[in-house]
Amino acid sequence: MRMYDIIEKKRNGGELSDTDISEFIKGYTSGSIPDYQASALLMAIYFNGMTAHETSALTFSMAASGDSADLSELGNYTADKHSTGGVGDKTTLIVAPIAAALGLTVAKMSGRGLGHTGGTVDKLEAIPGYKTALKTDEFIAQAKRIGIAVVGQTGNFAPADKKLYALRDVTATVDSIPLIASSIMSKKLASGSKTVVLDVKYGSGAFMKNAQDAEKLAKAMVEIGKRAGRNVAAVISNMDIPLGNKIGNSLEVAEAVEVLSGNAQGDLRELCLTLAAQMYSSATGEKYETAYSKAETVLDSGAAIAKFKEWITAQSGDISFVDNLKDYTSAAEYSEFKAPVGGYISHIATDLVGIASAMLGAGRKKLGDSIDFSAGITLLKKTGDYVESGETLAILQSRGHGFEEAKEKLSKAYEFSSSKPVKAPLIYKIITE
Ligand code: URA
Repeated sequence: MRMYDIIEKKRNGGELSDTDISEFIKGYTSGSIPDYQASALLMAIYFNGMTAHETSALTFSMAASGDSADLSELGNYTADKHSTGGVGDKTTLIVAPIAAALGLTVAKMSGRGLGHTGGTVDKLEAIPGYKTALKTDEFIAQAKRIGIAVVGQTGNFAPADKKLYALRDVTATVDSIPLIASSIMSKKLASGSKTVVLDVKYGSGAFMKNAQDAEKLAKAMVEIGKRAGRNVAAVISNMDIPLGNKIGNSLEVAEAVEVLSGNAQGDLRELCLTLAAQMYSSATGEKYETAYSKAETVLDSGAAIAKFKEWITAQSGDISFVDNLKDYTSAAEYSEFKAPVGGYISHIATDLVGIASAMLGAGRKKLGDSIDFSAGITLLKKTGDYVESGETLAILQSRGHGFEEAKEKLSKAYEFSSSKPVKAPLIYKIITE
């Protein structure tokens, strides 16, 4: 079928066949289908959607467009997690060691941050000596030996997605559920783990702004996983408030160590236990409640922090920072952000907090920008807290630049009210079917 006919079929609301979809992906990846025809098809999909069958076919074609990781040597309990991105999200640093301490094998590729969201690879590089690149045989051998290996994305995974995502970005076709679901899941399928738990976030710091859209996306991805024969579940979590209290690379590593050491309660610990429990439950068939209490046990017994140390050391990281987090997180200069009025914090525009942290040097404006690992923000107060006028809401730190613009962003992020706001739950739903 000609590309013209494929576009016309979708424009008229028809269902594309598996062949239509695979021909499109092959042609677009090889360059024989031009951007203008791919753009027209993307827009037709944006308006007319895709059936579950079409969305899966698109995902499978994109996953097959490049390399795929062979984790077959690692047995049946390979487990991965993926977050749709947020502010203060350091969950991989905590969930991976909990999962490995529970006996799962986490052989994972992670990405860098861009815009207001952080990336796991940047956080790992904030650990002195940590090697984010391993040869494939080293990666597999480490995962086999200690149950955990986390590296940056290398190789040619889902090149069709890379090309299509860049096109979607400039043709106003990013926010389409079948296109997002197939984009994320093509990379997860190519990454090889049998079990995948997706942390689908909603709210002002997330890609999906409300819980209902996040649920639609979660269901679409779980369905793709089922059709691919993988164990896929999704946890829908609140990103209308930054996760934990620290944003910025070294600060987030330190906060992860606090949770792993059993020294922290609150939203970050709860979300990590939920994700790890769901990974264990999906991988082994164990009841979720039992999996949750097992996850709590490995966290509170010290098994998870021991696994974290083993992991970081295996990838050449210097683990001594764990015993001196204060020095590890120190920066050249600090500045306080104070409440302009008294009252309850009724909302925090979380994306703006992420942007403020990037302005201090913790994130990138464009690919390739360098990062100041010591830069970031510590939140002393969050949504629902009562504050006096002039009370410190957050401590900003950096090499000494960006304080004024970051504070201006933060002043737009916070809203106050005279009555205590009702807080949305951290976990909205878990989708397993
Ligand atoms: N993340 C992805 O990888 N793809 C999308 O389309 C959106 C978010």
